Amino acid sequence: MDWFPIFLDLRDSSALVVGGGAVALRKTRQLLEAGCKVSVVAPDSDPGFAKLVSSRAISYRAMRFEPEMLVGHRLVIAATDDRELNRQVARSAKQMGVLINVVDDPSLCSFIMPAIVDRSPMVIAIGTGGSAPVLARQVKARIEASLPQALGELARFMGEWRAKVRQRVSNSAERRRLWEAVSEGPVAEHLFAGRADEADRLMARMLDGSSAGSPALAGEIYIVGAGPGDPELLTIRALRLMQQCDVVLHDRLVSAEVIALVRRDARRIDVGKRFCGERTWSQQRINQTMIRLAREGKRVLRLKGGDPLVFGRGGEELEALAGAGIPYQVVPGITAAVGCGAYAGIPLTHRDFAHSCVFVSGHGVEQPEFDWNRLAQPGQTIVFYMALDSIATICRELRRHGLPDTTPAAVISQGTTRDQQVLNATLATLPDSVAEHPVESPALLIVGDVVSLHDRLKWFRPDSSTVIDEAGALKQDGPDPANTPAWLDSAAP
Ligand code: SAH
Repeated sequence: MDWFPIFLDLRDSSALVVGGGAVALRKTRQLLEAGCKVSVVAPDSDPGFAKLVSSRAISYRAMRFEPEMLVGHRLVIAATDDRELNRQVARSAKQMGVLINVVDDPSLCSFIMPAIVDRSPMVIAIGTGGSAPVLARQVKARIEASLPQALGELARFMGEWRAKVRQRVSNSAERRRLWEAVSEGPVAEHLFAGRADEADRLMARMLDGSSAGSPALAGEIYIVGAGPGDPELLTIRALRLMQQCDVVLHDRLVSAEVIALVRRDARRIDVGKRFCGERTWSQQRINQTMIRLAREGKRVLRLKGGDPLVFGRGGEELEALAGAGIPYQVVPGITAAVGCGAYAGIPLTHRDFAHSCVFVSGHGVEQPEFDWNRLAQPGQTIVFYMALDSIATICRELRRHGLPDTTPAAVISQGTTRDQQVLNATLATLPDSVAEHPVESPALLIVGDVVSLHDRLKWFRPDSSTVIDEAGALKQDGPDPANTPAWLDSAAP
């Protein structure tokens, strides 16, 4: 983080604005809004300043900047179009320990002013370290649109009740839940509708209930699909529950970027299940831990890669929770087949190629009773999960049971992430390709004519993406094909 955001109390502080143009005027107004005493120095000034001077909102000196003028000021904004003067102001300010902002020149600044969404007392600051103000403004517009105008009312209300709540509800987890019930429930609705009295009355009732111990808020378990890797593939519901849990148990399959979105002070437990069935925590231990935590009143997030109920033993977890009488909810996630298909430009069904699609676990394909005839059907896409160790068997058996040698087959590794790789081959050539170019786990095998569309339909080009074509040759699949050495990082054995 290049710029650390802080909120300054500028009420009754003195600030100096150097410059008399439109930008200086805007900055002056912002400082006045923050309750600052503002002095402006500039040989001449925008007419807008005249009103501020006559209403004595600011003091104005019609002269050039001198370093002594900084004395007594907490901060200074240089908003002139004279770069040398701006530099001189910055130098003097730094020497004197006065906070300095030079408009449009972050390299001379000791502080920068973010774009602001103002729902005072809630204030949201958006910064890009000066690198992309347009982007900051776009984000600001989105946040403006998504937050109720009366959010400030709610924040003020919560501030007013804060001390009383702290006094009456001593348990901090319970307190947080009470606040969540306030901010997401009828109290907030009353405030947004302008019914402050109702909100107060309801709040008082909730607090009575809470201190009498009645809503000893019970624990709950959220079984949540984290999707295949790209955090943007999370559902809104998943994100909301991730931000209100007390503890998270996550698999190894859940990407670090996704885990980073879990509420910061939630306890994190890596149950470290590996991709191929071995695990450091037994399923039983996971189940027992979730049940114990929920019984302690915790909101437990069980975060699982992809969809929680597709090859993730999520079903067994639900059975254990149902058996123990623990309340739970399940949030579906984008399963690897769907995520990888989309990001590799491979439609899992297609009117010309495949009318059905089956998801199969690669575990078990070695069993003699495995039903290959069911899979080796024309017009069907087969997606094998957990198949890295059995690719040779799968290709051999599918050919033996009637699929042509030329049937397209692709291995997609670390799908939807920046490290996604696609190894594109046929049932006949895939085992050798994989032997030659080992792929990283987790990886998925897709077999069927739809795979032939990858070359034409691929669109996702992470920097390090690599494709190995049918002849087994490595091809850079990133944004700059001329930059050949790039693939070496991600795909060279
Ligand atoms: N519940 C998960 C699957 C768990 S089984 C889901 O719905 O996706 C683990 C297998 O999922 C891995 O062996 C691999 O085959 C597949 N997988 C999960 N994430 C993947 C990814 N990002 N890219 C490729 N395969 C993935």
